[in-house]
Amino acid sequence: MVKEIMANSLPTGPKGIRFLFGEFVHYDYFFGYIGTLLHAESGIQHIHIMENEFWGKMLFINNCLQFTERDEFIYHEALVHIPVQASPKGKIKKVLICGGGDFGASRELLKYPEIEEVIIVDIDPDVPKLIKKYFPSLLPENPKDPRLKLITADAYEMVKKFTREKKNFDLIIIDTTDPDVSVEGGKTQELSHALFAEEFHRMLLEMSPEGIVVQQCGTPFTMKDILKGTYQIFKKVYPENEIYCYRADVPSFGGDNAYLMRFPFEDPKTPKWEELENTLYYNHEVHRASFGLPKFWKEVLE
Ligand code: SAM
Repeated sequence: MVKEIMANSLPTGPKGIRFLFGEFVHYDYFFGYIGTLLHAESGIQHIHIMENEFWGKMLFINNCLQFTERDEFIYHEALVHIPVQASPKGKIKKVLICGGGDFGASRELLKYPEIEEVIIVDIDPDVPKLIKKYFPSLLPENPKDPRLKLITADAYEMVKKFTREKKNFDLIIIDTTDPDVSVEGGKTQELSHALFAEEFHRMLLEMSPEGIVVQQCGTPFTMKDILKGTYQIFKKVYPENEIYCYRADVPSFGGDNAYLMRFPFEDPKTPKWEELENTLYYNHEVHRASFGLPKFWKEVLE
């Protein structure tokens, strides 16, 4: 028998380029995804959208995973329902989302009829356009909900303007890409950087002295400097007894995501609103458990 030395060629794949995308978590370790490239651009941010069999469609900004279709609900439900439900019932009427041009946070907020206004301020006009094309499941149930407004601007500049105009929000959600917080204080390139700084939080406090502020702070197991640095900023700006940290396990992030919250009311660990039926992650049991932090996180929060 003649030894077979040539392999069969690969069958032609589906439409699009099948490629391997690597997201570096550390300089010698990365998450690798195989899939079809649906979109790639280098505008004000590098944006890639790919489709992977397990995770569904995935959005990367500047080579960092922002979310996957399969588990984005966990990140967004934790980001929104914990501060809303922690607040005195009916308290949240006006909400500002800094970043969040993917609509995921607004989708969750608009589930509450009590919420009257949701403003998204995202710096990159391409993000909302691409979401409408590739990720319709992130859009609110009624994408034309009159309570929702999208502004394309740097949230830093917009908050400055809102402060001058004496606009007030009950809840401010900072749903941005991660900042650059390397141990060496490496070079800054993320557009979100200023939204993690003291000046920005001082403006938020001036704009909404009684406002709840929640900020996503990355995945501490692999990037603890974001939580550590942001907590130091919160401590400088807000009373220490109003600062809380909670977490949510987002599998595609490879560890629990951290959220820091400035909460100027009583007892955020107890939910005060009725449970919604149309959530997949959030319920009152998860609400209470989200504030239980592992010892190694508490060390970061000292
Ligand atoms: N789930 C996310 C994660 O993994 O961190 C956040 C997703 S959301 C897509 C991040 C958004 O922040 C992007 O659409 C980006 O354009 C926006 N962004 C970054 N810097 C910003 C700034 N200075 N002002 C407003 N939006 C900003």
